[in-house]
Amino acid sequence: MRLDKLIEQELLTSRKEMKQYFARKQVRIDGQVEMNASRNVDSLLHHIQVGSDCLYTDHVYLLMNKPAGVVTALKDEKHTTVTQLVASVDQRETLYPVGRLDRDTEGLLLLTDNGQLGYELLLPEKKVEKTYEVWVNGKLSEADRLAFQAGIMFHGGEICKPAKLAILDASDKMSHCLLSIQEGKFHQVKKMFLSRNVKVTRLRRIRMGPLSLDSQLLRGGYRQLSYPELMKLK
Ligand code: URA
Repeated sequence: MRLDKLIEQELLTSRKEMKQYFARKQVRIDGQVEMNASRNVDSLLHHIQVGSDCLYTDHVYLLMNKPAGVVTALKDEKHTTVTQLVASVDQRETLYPVGRLDRDTEGLLLLTDNGQLGYELLLPEKKVEKTYEVWVNGKLSEADRLAFQAGIMFHGGEICKPAKLAILDASDKMSHCLLSIQEGKFHQVKKMFLSRNVKVTRLRRIRMGPLSLDSQLLRGGYRQLSYPELMKLK
């Protein structure tokens, strides 16, 4: 639907008021000022803000493809943070990441200003499953799969809940696999593999609960969650 038609329909604005909103740069789509009143928009896919009013959603949910080298933090002295990758300065101030990926980890990261939803997704009792694509520097075998299934014990003695390991490729020097876990211990995936005497060389999160990494997103790219994704998350 055309943006001006949508605003007119939802906010019952006159043509004059509409022009003023655009002239005052008070129309934003996903945090960016939009000047094109005839742009076609899908209100379920975009966060549309007109002055102080939001159409349909009052929170921002961004699905990001986090690149390696960027830290999951709001501020950092040395490194770029995930919120600095967000173009809208206003959104940067209010968004925070749901959970944490290490600096060298890539992949799916949800950013939101909905504190309650973010908090709930991280509750252990919610058992939100996270799937990682993992590359390690040694050969994985059926014995490793069974060990993950039984519950890995870290070198320090801490025990993890059962996890699902699917080996995609294994040779003496390198293995490629998928690992699904329901917990979020510090450096959990790396420590799990270390306890099997191999080192993670690359780590990428590809799923979190109902959300999947969008293959269209470039590294460092992000998009607003679609309405169906948001509904599945809630
Ligand atoms: N486990 C890790 O070791 N690192 C991450 O970034 C995420 C899970």
